[in-house]
Amino acid sequence: MTDQLIAYHEARARGGVGCIVVQVAGVHETARYTSHVLMATSDECVPGYRDLAAAVHPFGTVLLGQLFHPGREVMESSDGSAPVAVAPSAVPTERFRVMPRALGLEEIEEIVAGYGAAATRLVRAGLDGVEVVASHGYLPAQFLSSHANRRDDDYGGSRENRRRFLDEVMDAVRAGAGPAAAVGLRISLDEHDPAGLDIEEATDAVAALAARGALDYVSVTTGTSATLGGSDHIAPDMGFANGYVAPAAARLRARIDVPILVAGRINQPQEAERIIASGQADACVMTRALICDPEMPRRAVAGELDEIRACVGCNQACIGHFHQGHAISCIQRPETGRERRYGAVVRSPAPRRVLVVGGGPAGLKAAAVAAARGHEVRLYEASRRVGGQVLLAEQLPGRDEFGGVADNLRREAQRAGVEIVTGQRVDVDLVERDDPDVVVVATGAQPYTPPVERRGSPRVVDAWSVVRDLESAPTGHVLVADSRGDWTGLGVARLLARAGRRVTLAVTGYAAGDRLQQYVRDGQLVALEREGVVTRALLRLGGVDEDTAYLESVLTGNPVLVADVNGVVVAAGGTPDSALAEALRKRDRAPIVVGDCRAPRTVEEAVLDGLVAASDL
Ligand SMILES: Cc1cc2nc3c(=O)[nH]c(=O)nc-3n(C[C@H](O)[C@H](O)[C@H](O)COP(=O)(O)OP(=O)(O)OC[C@H]3O[C@@H](n4cnc5c(N)ncnc54)[C@H](O)[C@@H]3O)c2cc1C
Ligand code: SF4
Repeated sequence: MTDQLIAYHEARARGGVGCIVVQVAGVHETARYTSHVLMATSDECVPGYRDLAAAVHPFGTVLLGQLFHPGREVMESSDGSAPVAVAPSAVPTERFRVMPRALGLEEIEEIVAGYGAAATRLVRAGLDGVEVVASHGYLPAQFLSSHANRRDDDYGGSRENRRRFLDEVMDAVRAGAGPAAAVGLRISLDEHDPAGLDIEEATDAVAALAARGALDYVSVTTGTSATLGGSDHIAPDMGFANGYVAPAAARLRARIDVPILVAGRINQPQEAERIIASGQADACVMTRALICDPEMPRRAVAGELDEIRACVGCNQACIGHFHQGHAISCIQRPETGRERRYGAVVRSPAPRRVLVVGGGPAGLKAAAVAAARGHEVRLYEASRRVGGQVLLAEQLPGRDEFGGVADNLRREAQRAGVEIVTGQRVDVDLVERDDPDVVVVATGAQPYTPPVERRGSPRVVDAWSVVRDLESAPTGHVLVADSRGDWTGLGVARLLARAGRRVTLAVTGYAAGDRLQQYVRDGQLVALEREGVVTRALLRLGGVDEDTAYLESVLTGNPVLVADVNGVVVAAGGTPDSALAEALRKRDRAPIVVGDCRAPRTVEEAVLDGLVAASDL
């Protein structure tokens, strides 16, 4: 329990969150599914949880803790060696490719006792209750599953036997937590896995627990960690409809008389209101919505709905960071995860006149933060709308919600009092005329086109131009050469396929979109196949003539020809647009350079650059 984690939750409590369910805590030494998981296996955890409770309770926030054992769903060990995973039976998990060993009866008893002891510790630390994580194919769900549980003792075989582990866990937790604490259960009602729990089996298990009074509430989710397709539901991306789990929650709610909570792409209070008002659930669970805007509950209560920064389901800095072993943040709000440094706006002791060039994510964030700190800020944007490359990103198939990033940043800047001037390209003379105290250059990037050998006059265009104007793309058979593995090559291939082109997507990586967060990539790969795009991996573009693209293996350099090609679209990312910054330096105006014009990256770094630069002014 780090000071940063406490600061993160304190910010949500201050923002008006009614109940915080803290991330999972391992209940047994075999529960270390990542190297940084919280553990509740010894009394050493109590002071940390106590500090957390002391930080959030003054705001009237209820605090619950999750009790966790992943079973075979183990991602890593602390030193990189393969961990020993345990499960009901020695049945491998497809996603992490872990083969566990079957638990012995004594170990089961020890783990059950671990749940109870962990509940005692958390309640002793001042938490208001605990939640058993039986969702997403973790250990309790593995016991429930006839596929993962092949035991022939009292814990396997019949449905009753497969429920025994969870029954014992709930009893141990109730006893450990004591009568005053809330005891809840989190469960995936549908694991979206042919070998996983289905809604009927999961609902029956919960109903049996509810019938004997073991549950104070049930938190409904969906999906499983065990498969790629099932895990996409752990943090469903923008391809999933808002609140799509609510109908399953409604089915359970009709069956049992216990409060039902539901999660799953509920990113705005209006959505939560709809779910609750229609009787599908009693409360809504929102994780990324609060990573993105900790003030959301307070703003909802105040009726300031337009001020809420809605999560766009990009999965980049939240679950994306987690999968890379980094602390979570948000691309739209880099203050998240950095609360101790950037949590509060600090007024500048010496307000200055700040000119920001460029209304992309970097410029908008720099302007917003500088204005919030009391500086007088004017932002110039060359085009008619602010948003920069986000205005291209939102045009890729299935990515329209990404445009919310630009709207949210614009509103943040306007709220802070930034004067936004659109349709005005800035040159050195304009800067001289305005004569600001500080110039922030956020001019972004232009498409990068690598050297491609051309014979004759083949059609070769960059991907950004195709997004701007689909008509500029070649017709017929088009080769998209993608050296980035991000959203653009894949998205342009889909755009072209939808517009009737025959598309071959050649990528330098192992698969299309291999740098995208898994849950985002998976949906895109499904769509690529559905739309008939042929993908060729591990190939780089060397040259092109009027009907053939010349590629080579990135591993061996061996040539690979793609014939009957009418043209090539190059998706090679951006190159910094640094001309203005260089010109200003020549005039002895030392500009502050942020975002892609510093080095082309993503929205996350652009917005972070803007925050850091403006916080130092
Ligand atoms: C098709 C596509 C899809 C993408 N998808 C994603 C994604 O899903 N997630 C992600 O994180 N990133 C994505 N990116 C990358 C991301 O959009 C950029 O990294 C980010 O927008 C960079 O922000 P920026 O503010 O530094 O620059 P930009 O977004 O390039 O904005 C720069 C702005 O400055 C303006 N400008 C330039 N020169 C001047 C001047 N002299 N005077 C006035 N104004 C000027 C430009 O008109 C532009 O509006 C995508 C990019 C593309 C092209
Ligand atoms: S990074 Fe993207 S998905 Fe994650 S909280 Fe922010 S907007 Fe939502």
